[in-house]
This record gives sequence, C-alpha cells and structure tokens, in this order.
Amino acid sequence: MYAIPHRDKLSASTVQFLERQPGRLFIAGQWQPSASGKTLVKDDPATGKPFYEAFIGDAEDVDRAVRHARAIFDDLHHPWRRMTPLERERLLHALADRIEADKQTLAELITLENGKPLSAARGEVTSTVNMFRYYAGWPTKIEGDVKPVSIPDRLNYTLREPVGVVGAIIPWNFPLSMIAWKLAPALAAGNVVILKPAEQTPVTAIRFCELVQEAGLPAGVVQLINGYGETAGAALTAHPGVDKIAFTGSTEVGKIILRASAGNVKRVSLELGGKSPHIIFDDADLARAIPTAAYAIFGNAGQSCNAGSRLFVHRRVYEEVVQGVAQRARLIKVGPGFAPESEMGPLVSAEQFERVTRYVQRGIEQGARVRVGGERPAYLPEGYFLAPTIFEAVHDDMDIMREEIFGPVLGVTPFESLEEVAARANDTQYGLAAGIWTRDISRAHRLAAMLRAGTVWINCYSQFDPASPFGGYKQSGFGREMGHEVLEHYTEVKSVWVGLAS
Ligand code: NAP
Ligand code: MG
Repeated sequence: MYAIPHRDKLSASTVQFLERQPGRLFIAGQWQPSASGKTLVKDDPATGKPFYEAFIGDAEDVDRAVRHARAIFDDLHHPWRRMTPLERERLLHALADRIEADKQTLAELITLENGKPLSAARGEVTSTVNMFRYYAGWPTKIEGDVKPVSIPDRLNYTLREPVGVVGAIIPWNFPLSMIAWKLAPALAAGNVVILKPAEQTPVTAIRFCELVQEAGLPAGVVQLINGYGETAGAALTAHPGVDKIAFTGSTEVGKIILRASAGNVKRVSLELGGKSPHIIFDDADLARAIPTAAYAIFGNAGQSCNAGSRLFVHRRVYEEVVQGVAQRARLIKVGPGFAPESEMGPLVSAEQFERVTRYVQRGIEQGARVRVGGERPAYLPEGYFLAPTIFEAVHDDMDIMREEIFGPVLGVTPFESLEEVAARANDTQYGLAAGIWTRDISRAHRLAAMLRAGTVWINCYSQFDPASPFGGYKQSGFGREMGHEVLEHYTEVKSVWVGLAS
C-alpha cells in the first residue's frame, strides 16, 4: 500500500477507504479482483507521487459483467425489471441521500485523484446530488401516448422502454459528475449499466459504487470495470451483449467508438471535445464579462469540454478586456487542491501536462505572443501545475486556436463586426458551446441563432442544470445529456397496434 498523501487533511472515512487497496472491480454485486490480477497505480497530480492501486479489467471481466447485465435485463421477473416506477424513484432518492451524506469523502477523493480544489470538488458532489434528485423524479413521468391513427377500428399507442445494457465510458475531468450525467437518466429509464471510468480517475468511481450498494439497488444493476480504454473500453464497445454506449471524451476516441459499435448496431451517444468561442462586444457589461471570460477558461484548469478557449473581443474594447483578463489570470492562486487558498489545481496527469505544454510551445513557434503565464509557477516545483496562460497575436489557423488543448490556455483575438465574428466562431470542427456578451438584445439573439453550437450562453457562461440539455453540434458529438432530451437516448419507443373490430 502506498503512503496516503495530504493525510492530515483527510477525514477518517477517506483514510479508511484508501486503506482498502487494491480497489476492486464491482461485478454482479461482488467486489472482486480482475481476472488477470493486473492493477494500475494512480498518482497524486499535486505531487506526482503514487497513492492508490486499483485492479483493472479487460475483455474477460467485461464479458462477465455484460453476461450478468444481460441476465438481469432479459429476465422480466428480475426485481429490477419488475420494479414499479415509484420504487425506482425511491431508490434513486436513496442513492442521492447516500451521496449527500458522503460529500466530504467523495470530494476528498475527487481532489486526490483529479487535483481540483476541494471547494470545486464539493461543488461537483452537490451537482451530482442534484442530478440524481432531478432524474429520481422522472420514472413516474416517462410515458408513451395514444396516436390519432386514421385506420378504422385500430388503437395505436406507444410505450417507452429501456434500451437495455448500457456501457458508460467517461473521462477524468469531472470524475463524479460524469458518472451522474450518464447513470442518473440511464437508471431512471430502467436500464442496466456497466461503468468504465478513465484510467486517471478510478477512485471516485469505486466509492460511488459502494454507495450504490448501500442505497439498495439490486446487485448488478450498476457494475464497475476500471481499466484502460484500449482494453476494457474497447471490449465493452465491441461486445454484442451491450445495447448502447454512452460516451464522453475526445473526438478522436469518439470516432473509434462509433466504428467499434457498428457490429451489433449499438445505440451510441457521444459528448466530445470543444473549442468554444467566447465573444465580447463593445457594449458589454465588462465588469461581469471580464471575470467570467477568465473563469470560462481557467475553471477546472481549462479541463472542461465547454472551456471558452477562443476569446473574441470587439476591437474598441480589446485592450481593456485583455488587460482585465490578464490581471485576473495573474491573481488566480494556483496550488494543491487541499490548500484552502487554491483556486486552480494541477493538470490531471504527467501526460496531460506534457500535452498542454507542447501546445504552449507550438503557439510560441507559430508566432503567438504569451501575454501571461506559459510556464509552471516557480513556487510549485513538483506536480503538474501550469500557470494560467493567455496568448495574443493569434491567427485563426494556428493549432492553439483550432485544436482542443484541454488546459488553462486562452487565445484572444480582436473582431470588428457581428458577421465577421459569427463566421470566425463557426470556423471550427467543433460545436459544443459559445458565449456572447452584449447589451443589445437583438444582436444577442441574432448571433445566438447564427452560432453552430449546442449551447449558447448570453451574458453568462458555463451554466448547467439537470433540466437543460447539453451536447454538441458537428464533431462535438451527438445526442444530448440532461433535460428530458437525454431520456430519448436511454429509451426505445414501441408502437402497439390493437385491432378493435368485433
Ligand atoms: P479520451 O482519451 O477520449 O477518453 C475518454 C474515455 O474513453 C476514457 O475512459 C478512456 O479510457 C476511454 N477510451 C480510450 N480509448 C478507447 C477505446 N479505444 N475504446 C473505448 N474507450 C476508450 O478523453 P480523456 O482524455 O479522458 O478526456 C478529455 C476529453 O474528453 C476532451 O477531449 C474533452 O473535450 C472531452 N470531454 C467532453 C465532454 C462533453 O461533455 N462533451 C465532457 C468532458 C470531457 P482511458 O483513458 O482509461 O484509456
Ligand atoms: Mg485517456
């Protein structure tokens, strides 16, 4: 067992949890080692030191989990399949209660494995509770309808049924929220789920599944296979016993998943990357726009799919805005997630640190000018810390303006007109989100309609609520998370005809 980092900052229940190593897979309601006995070792992003060992599954473990999931779903007498909607609601509320009661430990585990400040991790737990509560209200409201068919003596109605066995493959940037975004609606609709977290964040998922068990969900309705994408993820995606893959991650892997799902024509929903434009007009409330523009890119150390990574500023207020955002960037306190004053933590892994710093290097090589940051803060010699970074003198065709960096790196560029900025904002393979700042309401709505993005924030940014759908246009994916929209992706529609002639 590895030494527990930040031990003096952890609650007793977190320490107890960390003492149970290696973390196991959760298959058929049993905590078990992987068939191969292989493990991975997880390091602390704030120090780079290993702290947790977890069993990792591959094709054999995935196959066992899928067989079990199928056995549950295909047995109409199984308690999960016979459960009334009200009972499903009660269980989801019970799970929300458990998550809420475990807030401190979940938040500490998120900070330990992802690096984000503890306050942000606590926020993630709260939004997870809200997500489960919102979807706990849905089982009794998912309904079919009676269709006004024109054939005499025929009754036609629809049923909404669960899709079946769902494989949920998720990234590391919000280790708990990403679980909730998939599992809350999937379970509300009555599916059986196999979860494959990112290799960088196996820990929170284990804790989450302990709470699933405590909340009393029938064994096997949620199973957990930690492991690598190329092995566990690929096996889940290719398995003929899986009906649907719900994926969040990079566009690159999204394409692999699409291809690999073709074998049994799986349903697939994809939440992929972004390069979201954040647009500030000269009549904007700059006192709000400036700090929000900084938060939009530096929140979660830029590791958000919706990060406002391309900042377009009207030429007349360009210098004022850049100065303001740069000032904010300099003031952000970068440090370990467990230091109470930290506002931005490290990047999640050495690999991510390399990737982001390579982009910074490439930006410089391609002629962009670093206005602030660009380097590891001198006072943080270990861990994967990078200072908030702002590039000026960028061109729309530079790599740093085209590719998703997934780090605290912003490119700022001036614009003159609405038509110009709309065209440049849309000149990307992505279409996840966008931000607009103006006091002119017709301009705001005109531009909102012109932008090819799944979410547009006007005079705000990064607002999420379980009731509001979120997802991508173009290569940012398809399907929507949240709202009632996501339930379409976790249900099938059955049309039933009845002959009424006597
Ligand atoms: P990633 O490399 O695409 O990985 C995402 C998940 O897919 C991980 O669990 C990964 O496993 C797994 N995976 C990798 N290769 C696979 C394969 N061949 N078959 C099946 N699964 C496979 O992304 P990431 O680096 O974890 O996360 C960052 C990316 O996620 C960014 O591009 C970001 O924009 C995107 N993201 C999008 C949203 C959204 O809502 N649109 C939200 C958050 C993040 P391993 O990592 O264990 O190999
Ligand atoms: Mg990965």
